[in-house]
Amino acid sequence: MNKGKVYLIGVGPGDPELLTLKAVRILAKVDIVLIDSLVEHSIRHFLRPQAQVIEVGKRGGQPSTDQAEINQMLVEYARQGLLVARVKGGDPFIFGRGGEELAVLNDAEIETEVLGGLTAGIALPGNLQVPLTHRDLAKGVSFISGCNKTFDNDYQWHELISLNHTLVIYMGLNKVQDIADALIASGMARGTPAMAVQDGSLATEKAVFAPLLHLARAIKQEQLQSPTLIVIGEVVALSPHWDEENIAQALYGANILVEAAR
Ligand code: SAH
Repeated sequence: MNKGKVYLIGVGPGDPELLTLKAVRILAKVDIVLIDSLVEHSIRHFLRPQAQVIEVGKRGGQPSTDQAEINQMLVEYARQGLLVARVKGGDPFIFGRGGEELAVLNDAEIETEVLGGLTAGIALPGNLQVPLTHRDLAKGVSFISGCNKTFDNDYQWHELISLNHTLVIYMGLNKVQDIADALIASGMARGTPAMAVQDGSLATEKAVFAPLLHLARAIKQEQLQSPTLIVIGEVVALSPHWDEENIAQALYGANILVEAAR
C-alpha cells in the first residue's frame, strides 16, 4: 500500500491566479481534498477528475464540520494510504487553524507538508494599492482577528496603537463598530484612514474607504458581507481610491464613502 500524506495548502484569497505553482502541481496529484467552501471554485479546475472533494466549511447556513472531525478525517484518509489535500483560503497558518491540524497530524505521525499561500491581509491591500508598511507612515503591520479568544474588553489597544503599525483585521466585520470605538477611546485619531474590502480578488469585490470614525457606517451603507477584511492606518490614504475631498466632507456627515471601482 502507498504511504499516505497530508498537504496543508493555502490557496490565496480567491482569484485562482493567486495560487502558487507548487499548489497547482500538488493539487493535480491528490486523491482527496478537504476544503472550505469559500475557496472551492478557485481550485476545482486543477484537480484530477477522480479526486474526491469533501466540503467541510460553512455553506448556505449549514454549520461547518466540527474541527475534531476534520482532524480525524485527515488522519484516517492518510492512514488509508491516500494523498490528502487540506485546502484553506489565504495562508493556512494565518487565522486558518492550520497550526491545530498540523499538531494533530504530527502527533499521529502522519507525513505532512505545508504549502503557504498568499494571505488576504497581504494580497488585498496590495490590489487596492495600499502599501502596508511605509518608512514615514507605518513602522510595521499587525494582523489581528476580530473574533478570536484574544478579542475581548481586555484587548491591549493602547499597546497596539503605540506600535505605530498598520492594522489588518480579519473576521472583524461584525465587530467593526466596537473595534473602531475601542481604538478611538484608546487614542487613535478619529480621522485615521481606514478601508474594508469584501470578496477581495474576486469579480464580486467591493471596497469602502472612510475615516475610522465612519468606517462602520460606510460598511453598513454599502452592505458589505463576509468575507471582509479591514485595514486601518495612514497608509490607506496612499491608495488612489482614497478620495481626500469626499472623505473630508465625510467628517461633516455628507458623502461618507468612496467605492473602489475595479
Ligand atoms: N487563512 C486566511 C484567513 C482565514 S480567516 C488567510 O490567510 O487569508 C477568514 C477571514 O479572512 C475573513 O473573515 C476575512 O476577514 C479574510 N478574508 C479571506 N479571504 C478574503 C477575501 N477574498 N476578501 C475579503 N476578506 C477575506
